[in-house]
Amino acid sequence: MGLDMDHTLIRYNVQEFEKLSHNVIKEKLVKNRNYPAVVLDLPFCYDLAIRGLVIDRQKGNTLKLNRHSAIRASNHGLKSIDFKTQQKIYKSTYIDLSDKQYMAVDTAFSISLATLFSQIVEIKENQPDLKFPDFATIADDVLNALDEGHRDGSLKETVKKDLKRFIIKEPDMVAGLEKFKKHGKKIFIVTNSDFHYTKLLLDYAITPFLKDHKSWLDLFEIIVTSAQKPRFFHDDLKYLKVNPADGTMTNVNEKLVPGVYQGGSAQVFTRDLGLEGDEILYIGDHIYGDILRLKKDCGWRTAMVIEELADEVKSNQIAEPTNQEIEILMKKKEPLEDDFTEIMTKKSDGFIDNLDAKLEALQRQITEIDLLISNLIKKQQALYNEHWGQLMRAGNEESYFAYQVDRYACVYTAKLGDLLELSPRTYFRAPRRPLAHEV
Ligand SMILES: [Mg+2]
Repeated sequence: MGLDMDHTLIRYNVQEFEKLSHNVIKEKLVKNRNYPAVVLDLPFCYDLAIRGLVIDRQKGNTLKLNRHSAIRASNHGLKSIDFKTQQKIYKSTYIDLSDKQYMAVDTAFSISLATLFSQIVEIKENQPDLKFPDFATIADDVLNALDEGHRDGSLKETVKKDLKRFIIKEPDMVAGLEKFKKHGKKIFIVTNSDFHYTKLLLDYAITPFLKDHKSWLDLFEIIVTSAQKPRFFHDDLKYLKVNPADGTMTNVNEKLVPGVYQGGSAQVFTRDLGLEGDEILYIGDHIYGDILRLKKDCGWRTAMVIEELADEVKSNQIAEPTNQEIEILMKKKEPLEDDFTEIMTKKSDGFIDNLDAKLEALQRQITEIDLLISNLIKKQQALYNEHWGQLMRAGNEESYFAYQVDRYACVYTAKLGDLLELSPRTYFRAPRRPLAHEV
């Protein structure tokens, strides 16, 4: 069983971390890229974006797509675009995500990115006297500033200094890991974080809660640091052995043995451990970095951690009675619509005259029901993100994010601890999925 570290094995206080990213990006934009200082005053608001949104670099819009890549909601800056305008802007509402015009925001990491992009577009539109580059450059600048923040240590250095603020301790999850190990599972880590950061986090959030082991070094079979995922999954990078006492490194010329490494590849890992790809379950939180290439190239089984799922499941439960009310009203509306269609057809065929009064009455009833339904939908939507609604759904369809999770992750869960509460022998069976003609 393999684990990603950041946001999978180690949970972050996501709101604090995103606020920090938001600040780091703002500072870099103003300091290194000459953005107007007003950017520094933009407040961080976690609810302005959700995972899975797509940025239209050319038009400065933020989009939510369904499983067919059709736009189901859109914003320009902080304002929502109404359906008619949206149709006018995007003649074909299907988005080709391989087109460079679009940028997917698909990790919990990037809420700050989407938020800040929308906020800057908003000031650019409202204050034309301030000097901002075009939308595409803003999108690239925000992304590059965030990447820089990850690379140059501005984010991690701050986390290191205040672990209490950013890192969540989970004793039950650690107990779950020990339970899985006791049942013969070999647990390993593959993280893009470097050895020193990895050690710091594991020393803080794992070792103090161990009962059957002295330190995380005894719990985990192999720890791969600075792994360069997703390259780790499809490239042939060399492993270096890390001495956990001081972080010094040596070349690896023999088979992998338990210990700490840097770099490397999934291919060598699978071969040296004498395993078949599908005997390994890898758990991560990043659809591109952790899941997609792994599934495509290595045949490892995959589990995805989607932290937002916990709230979404709670809201789904609260929404259930409202959903049922909507369903009942829809059932009531369908025969009225059928009657309406039938009379309209007869009327246009010229068979019967004087049907207008009947049509009017039907239309009135349909409009009344529509109003009730639209109020119920508003009530239901208020349970989710106020700007973007549900994470996993876009209207009646799955969201594009849910579609990708469903396609590439064998299982998914809100957090690692939930998975570890199960028996290590658990077998997951997919539910039968009805096709349109079977409903
Ligand atoms: Mg991660």
